Amino acid sequence: MAEEFLRIDKLVKTFGGNQVVKGVDLSFNKGEFVSLLGPSGCGKTTILRMIAGFERPDSGRILVEGKDISGLAPNQRKIGMVFQAYALFPNMNVADNIGFGLKIAGMPKPQREARIEEMLQLIGLSGYGKRYPFELSGGQQQRVALARALAPSPRMLLLDEPLSALDAKIRVSLREQIRQIQRELGITTVFVTHDQEEALSISDRIVVLNTGNVEQFGQPFEIYNRPQTRFVATFVGTLNTLNATVADAGAKTVTLGGTTVTIPALPASARNGEAVALTMRPEAVSLANGATRDIVLDGKVAEVSFLGSVIRLKVDLGDNAVNLDTFNDQRTPPPAHGAPVRIGIASSDVLVLER
Ligand code: ATP
Repeated sequence: MAEEFLRIDKLVKTFGGNQVVKGVDLSFNKGEFVSLLGPSGCGKTTILRMIAGFERPDSGRILVEGKDISGLAPNQRKIGMVFQAYALFPNMNVADNIGFGLKIAGMPKPQREARIEEMLQLIGLSGYGKRYPFELSGGQQQRVALARALAPSPRMLLLDEPLSALDAKIRVSLREQIRQIQRELGITTVFVTHDQEEALSISDRIVVLNTGNVEQFGQPFEIYNRPQTRFVATFVGTLNTLNATVADAGAKTVTLGGTTVTIPALPASARNGEAVALTMRPEAVSLANGATRDIVLDGKVAEVSFLGSVIRLKVDLGDNAVNLDTFNDQRTPPPAHGAPVRIGIASSDVLVLER
């Protein structure tokens, strides 16, 4: 059994009559990397700030290793935090930035210097101690901010969109470094992001939030493949939606593009003649002339997006359109715009989401 580290219990927060966190319950394990993922305004930052102690909950509790920390001031919580904007002290060099919390805590100079050196090594910036923030790239500044947060050996790390100000390439390499450092230290980490790809790639588990409520809490694999709500299915990843009509609810058949197909996921509550939305990920749709799939539909290529390792095609099916990904084998050029294609879908990959 994984050991529980952080528990959030019926947490509620209201700003000016607007409830932005609506009774959130969560439990994180020791050493876990958890992302809070959701659109702007869903309450991610507010939850993080309540954990840090910068915001006071209206009601509910936050427990660390079984102890309620709600009454503690931020500096008593032993939590490290990194913000979106670099927030380094511009007039202090890198070493002094990293050592700031240690100095406040009264650590003697020799120990402080040793710890700063250790932190510089951890973030791969040995020899940068005497530089000033303006002499560093954005990615380097964020690494220093991370070192500053970690220097006092916090028991938990909170990261509020720490990568969002960086350009795409640096973002990916820094997120890998953050994850590596987090693993090395085994520190329980809560990471706020609105970027689903970032959350999927970095997290042990993801909390998907929508308007102050938890929609789903699970591993990236579960969130992506087994979304429990329409919101999760559409917010995380690309989702195809095909409109169909229930043919025989008892037999779980629907009419789609003039043919009748069996959909194992059709809910028992479906009624004959009812319109249903069949959904599936792009990778559940294949070109291969539909040979190995039980749902076969004919269409025309409407859009070709070359993404590198995959080529995404949008196929117009008349009443419907689907996106599908084909693997770039570096030999076969993508089909031309307007070319006729046959697509295949495995009916077992189709989800039927509530309307
Ligand atoms: P974003 O990614 O845009 O930061 P978020 O999911 O982190 O979004 P929060 O920052 O937690 O969202 O904000 C949730 C809601 O609470 C928003 O509608 C926001 O305007 C409001 N809010 C946040 N802080 C305050 C505050 N101090 N006073 C009033 N309203 C606030």
